[in-house]
Amino acid sequence: MSQPNRFSVQRWKELSASGIFQIFSEKGIGKDGVRAAVGQFREIGRTNDDRGLTFSAVTQLASTIYCLRAFAASDTQSRYLPAAEDGTSIGGHAITESKAGSDVMNMSTTATLEGECYCLTGTKRFITNGPIASTLIVYAKTVENGIDRGLSAFLIQTDWFGVHTEKELQTAGLRGSPIGEVHLQQVRVPMTNRIGHVGAGLLILDQVMKREVLFAFAANIGEMEQLVENSVRYSNKRKQFGVSIGSNQLVANRIVETQIAIELGGALIESIAARIDGFEDLTIPVAAAKIFISEANLNATVNAIYVRGSNGYLVSSELPTYLLDAVPGAIYSGSNDLLRTKIATLLGITS
Ligand SMILES: Cc1cc2nc3c(=O)[nH]c(=O)nc-3n(C[C@H](O)[C@H](O)[C@H](O)COP(=O)(O)OP(=O)(O)OC[C@H]3O[C@@H](n4cnc5c(N)ncnc54)[C@H](O)[C@@H]3O)c2cc1C
Repeated sequence: MSQPNRFSVQRWKELSASGIFQIFSEKGIGKDGVRAAVGQFREIGRTNDDRGLTFSAVTQLASTIYCLRAFAASDTQSRYLPAAEDGTSIGGHAITESKAGSDVMNMSTTATLEGECYCLTGTKRFITNGPIASTLIVYAKTVENGIDRGLSAFLIQTDWFGVHTEKELQTAGLRGSPIGEVHLQQVRVPMTNRIGHVGAGLLILDQVMKREVLFAFAANIGEMEQLVENSVRYSNKRKQFGVSIGSNQLVANRIVETQIAIELGGALIESIAARIDGFEDLTIPVAAAKIFISEANLNATVNAIYVRGSNGYLVSSELPTYLLDAVPGAIYSGSNDLLRTKIATLLGITS
């Protein structure tokens, strides 16, 4: 199976049938559910070549299913969860705007309370699943009776009046994961579709992002396992100077480095998943895991190409797509630069 150039409905159906979206209904949203999801995403990463699809599935489970189960009222859950959990409805979350990327609080999308509805206006960018989504969790600055109430989360349906999700952005990698713009023009959202308390948006986003990081980078661990398997096979088969290239320790070490990252990154993700519903603040370990695994994954793809020599640089080897898919790992779910800055701040380093 090779990576398709666009979202595959058939593969989404197959992934949904595997039960990945039902994991929280079976195991709960606490550590048992998170550990099970982490294990399943690692396996999906190891066995599935469509890394874009995997990323879309991570978004569905974290941004929509976890968010609804953890924070939505029971009536909202019963209206939206069944379709999200059987995969017939695709979801995503909309935070980023053209002038508000890392600086989330600079967003200009507003939700103004008018009678029984909020009126949402703004434009979101780089929204995973946006072009194929039936629902989106939109984060917006909330104004009630003229008073700024902070960031809140709202579930919108993309078939509602004033919602436009048609504009797809062409990315270099993760081609199986559609990403796009979301335009909201005075979209009327019933109060019941606000997720969680008014002003709780940042808190909700923090919890959602922690899950997104664990699932996405558990999948990266599985993807690195694929690279190791491929590189071991190739380095044993390919002969130069009359011996297999793997017998040269410089070549072997390119593979060993990836295995070290698998062991360390995999253990860190599992350890965080086991601690997720305790009282410990996991901000630093989650940021550390995200930085470590995304950068190790990028190195792993480069090393896998180098082990193959020029053959690895051929499009037909598929390895260049692994490289392009690994690059955005340092950007999404909080850029690595920003996370390093956050760790420094939490350590008490003053600027
Ligand atoms: C594949 C992919 C999927 C995505 N999916 C979603 C999604 O589903 N929903 C959504 O809302 N968004 C999504 N995004 C958007 C993503 O969250 C943003 O791109 C990210 O927050 C960074 O914002 P920016 O691109 O505007 O970069 P900017 O904020 O403009 O930053 C540019 C560079 O400057 C650095 N930088 C900026 N400020 C600082 C600072 N204070 N300290 C250190 N470095 C800094 C950054 O690290 C970065 O390298 C996705 C992005 C990608 C690539």
